Amino acid sequence: MNVHDSERIGGLLEQAGYVPVGEADAPDLVVFNTCAVRENADNKLYGNLGHLRPAKTRNPDMQIAVGGCLAQKDRGEIVKRAPWVDAVFGTHNIGALPALLERARHNRAAEVEILESLEVFPSTLPTKRESTYSGWVSISVGCNNTCTFCIVPSLRGKEKDRRPGEILAEVRALVEEGVSEVTLLGQNVNTYGVEFGDKLAFGKLLRACGEIDGLERVRFTSPHPKNFTEDVIAAMAETPNVCHQLHMPLQSGSDRVLKEMRRSYRSKKFLEIIGKVREAMPDAAITTDIIVGFPGETEEDFAETLRVVEASRFSSAFTFQYSIRPGTPAGEMENQIPKEIVQERYERLVELQERVSWEENRKLEGTEVEVLVTVGDGRKDEATGRMSGRARDGRLVHFENADGVRPGDVVTTTITYGAPHHLVADSAILTHRRTKAGDAWEAGHQPKLPGVSLGMPTIGRKPEAKSDSPGCAC
Ligand code: SF4
Repeated sequence: MNVHDSERIGGLLEQAGYVPVGEADAPDLVVFNTCAVRENADNKLYGNLGHLRPAKTRNPDMQIAVGGCLAQKDRGEIVKRAPWVDAVFGTHNIGALPALLERARHNRAAEVEILESLEVFPSTLPTKRESTYSGWVSISVGCNNTCTFCIVPSLRGKEKDRRPGEILAEVRALVEEGVSEVTLLGQNVNTYGVEFGDKLAFGKLLRACGEIDGLERVRFTSPHPKNFTEDVIAAMAETPNVCHQLHMPLQSGSDRVLKEMRRSYRSKKFLEIIGKVREAMPDAAITTDIIVGFPGETEEDFAETLRVVEASRFSSAFTFQYSIRPGTPAGEMENQIPKEIVQERYERLVELQERVSWEENRKLEGTEVEVLVTVGDGRKDEATGRMSGRARDGRLVHFENADGVRPGDVVTTTITYGAPHHLVADSAILTHRRTKAGDAWEAGHQPKLPGVSLGMPTIGRKPEAKSDSPGCAC
């Protein structure tokens, strides 16, 4: 969601006349799009802002803006702690950024604007996309759940669903531009449609994506086990362009911990969903998120997590050590687990998941895979000459390079080795399909966002002639 928001910010700034600058050039504007989900986000932000202070002192006309979840959380605190910041905007008013920058420039004072709820769905804003071949498409923002460890609902607000017609129009427009893969994005895609009275809307949306010519791969993130319904499994299995890939957060295998987390499914239901998905799509790659060391987690609770992980056969898992998010109910719980216990459990979990991932990947040796060639994943490894891409099930594949293969193109190849975190195909490419996205990449039309994370701020230079026309490209 944060990366997608950065694409919106890039699009807005470009429309307002900004152009990206290289790392060696002095920017006129630096934007930090922050995420508060991980620990230490605030330390990183204030550290980065501190690094920029000398540059701001040398060039007072350079502007610094801070947006995203941390801005939504810290609000005016940011300009108190870093008075050299020019603009602070929240998760609900990304579109206001160019105007805030203009006001701050004119008034020579910081502008802080945080809205409590969404006024304009962010997907109606212009976008500067990172990729010619794949795109994020928001179907909803916000979340109506109240997981006790999570800060998202307080920063992103209640769930708001975008209408199917609007989503499909955006997908069609992307496909027209050459995009062959879209990822439907929502905090909880399984409740999509509840807001406008259609509980089956997500399955219908997947099927409608199946009708779009030229759209080769449809993915989505993230579903919530609580709301997972069988019509979605049927839609995944019966719609040829929907990838057999499911990222479904487990968080804990212990029913007691799930209750404390206020996640209202239990491990039995989770495993039943997995069973149904595999029954309908035996080749499905299922991935997950797991938190280790939630307050009060006992050795027995953790053993339950190991049991569910072993049984689930995840192809990979994002594993996290629990850490307090100020402002969340779990952050107030008294029975926090000592760091060394969390670390030791975490290592056991990672060891188990590595083994499972490796076993699952080795099963694919000798099979044929279709790979969408990517730049983001990729190494074109100097030593091996391999290129990289994603299989339909989302697995990372490093394959033997062949002349003329470009990011955005599609190849088929044979897996020769399954490593724990990727597949290797050191075999001749069986087929190579040149695509419109590959043409665009080759023609140098690949958009270049200088960066979207805290460590790599989005940097812009605004040409003089455009400096007085915020929000207007003319
Ligand atoms: S479902 Fe839970 S973890 Fe996910 S965004 Fe909502 S509150 Fe956070």
